[in-house]
Amino acid sequence: MARRHRVVVIGAGFGGLRATKALRGAPVDVVLVDANNYHLFQPLLYQVASAGLDADDIAYPARGIFHRQSNVDVVMGRVTGADLDRRELQVDGLGPLGYDSLVVGAGAVTATFGVPGVAEHAFALKNLQDALDLRHHVLRRFERAALEPAMLDDGLLTVVIVGGGPTGVELSGGLAELFGTVLAKDFKRVDVRRARVVLVEMTDRVLGPFAPSLSAKALTKLRELGVEVLLGRTVERVEATKVHLTDGTTIAAHTLVWAAGVEASGLGAALGLNVGRSGRIVVERDLSVPGHPEVYAIGDVAAATDERGVLLPQLAPVAMQAGRHAARQIVARLEGRPTTPFHYRDKGIMATIGRNNGVAQLPGGIHLSGWLGWVAWLGLHLVMLIGFRNRANVLVNWGWNYITYDRGARLIID
Ligand SMILES: Cc1cc2nc3c(=O)[nH]c(=O)nc-3n(C[C@H](O)[C@H](O)[C@H](O)COP(=O)(O)OP(=O)(O)OC[C@H]3O[C@@H](n4cnc5c(N)ncnc54)[C@H](O)[C@@H]3O)c2cc1C
Repeated sequence: MARRHRVVVIGAGFGGLRATKALRGAPVDVVLVDANNYHLFQPLLYQVASAGLDADDIAYPARGIFHRQSNVDVVMGRVTGADLDRRELQVDGLGPLGYDSLVVGAGAVTATFGVPGVAEHAFALKNLQDALDLRHHVLRRFERAALEPAMLDDGLLTVVIVGGGPTGVELSGGLAELFGTVLAKDFKRVDVRRARVVLVEMTDRVLGPFAPSLSAKALTKLRELGVEVLLGRTVERVEATKVHLTDGTTIAAHTLVWAAGVEASGLGAALGLNVGRSGRIVVERDLSVPGHPEVYAIGDVAAATDERGVLLPQLAPVAMQAGRHAARQIVARLEGRPTTPFHYRDKGIMATIGRNNGVAQLPGGIHLSGWLGWVAWLGLHLVMLIGFRNRANVLVNWGWNYITYDRGARLIID
């Protein structure tokens, strides 16, 4: 029997999952390869870091997602290179993996922008291990403060978060609340009022992609929560317990979180593909790679543009729509039809700043803030989470945290 057309999808992220699902019922066999054996819901990583949720609430086994899709095989392995002419991938520990069509959805990694000390001393918030490492580190600083209160003078309980985008803002709010409502009760002999959350942003406002009025509301709320927001300030270099700003200020801090930006995964270059700014793979309007119509790049790793040539943002809805589009182009080519350009339909952007507060900028010029923004954020994130168990767990945890002002996930188990 002739072998069916084989599509290899790299990455079980938002884009890769959507591409794989869109190939359900198509006359192809799909191999979904990911370095991890799970799909991760990155928008809720900050909740794991701030002890609101546990790791397995926001991740779901990739194999489980495709139980009922008979044309999918899931492989756990890291793709390290390719021979594009032979249509073969190199996968760590697996050897060569052939394909007829390839979808690259390898996502992004934290960009340190070469700031000295960041790679060595900063915590990132890009994967589950990052979130758990940060949570454990922060909780350990509090345990240490209980034993050596004098170390508060040395910034033991100061967290500096660099980058006032959604990640930095949400994490700042989450940590400020964790300190004020939970750890203040846990650590009776520690003067938790001296714990600081400092948010450093280089531009003149937080939440840059949002309308200025929503940024202003977010800033007010952050300050109400006790977050010290430093606008128009840049980090020059970092030491283990000190953060030096370019204006000469030094902040004593035992915790630095780098949320200042991401760059595309290095996989594009490793595969020998043409990469542009921030390592994003150059793609045609139909998301195929120039010179290789059988290879598509989607999501954070791709430099997809809109109709006017403007680079699309690295957001989950972009990756999901691109994944579905790439799958449709593969089927179109198989059926001898021409491919079509990718058009992104803007779904809006949202961020939450502590309990009862969020901002949402929706299509059609609709802006929500305060409690309404928060409810919109809660609803959307619940709907987007994969798996009934995860949704149920998150709902129960959020309900519990909301009613009791508690955070259950504050065990140190590293
Ligand atoms: C903290 C945080 C908060 C965010 N909040 C929001 C938000 O509120 N709203 C929003 O729209 N977006 C948000 N984003 C961005 C959003 O998560 C990304 O845009 C989205 O995940 C991109 O999807 P993707 O499929 O391109 O990549 P990803 O979802 O990152 O998936 C990439 C996958 O590729 C795998 N992989 C990478 N390299 C290899 C390799 N060499 N071999 C095999 N597998 C590999 C990875 O393990 C991963 O599973 C947030 C991101 C972060 C980090």
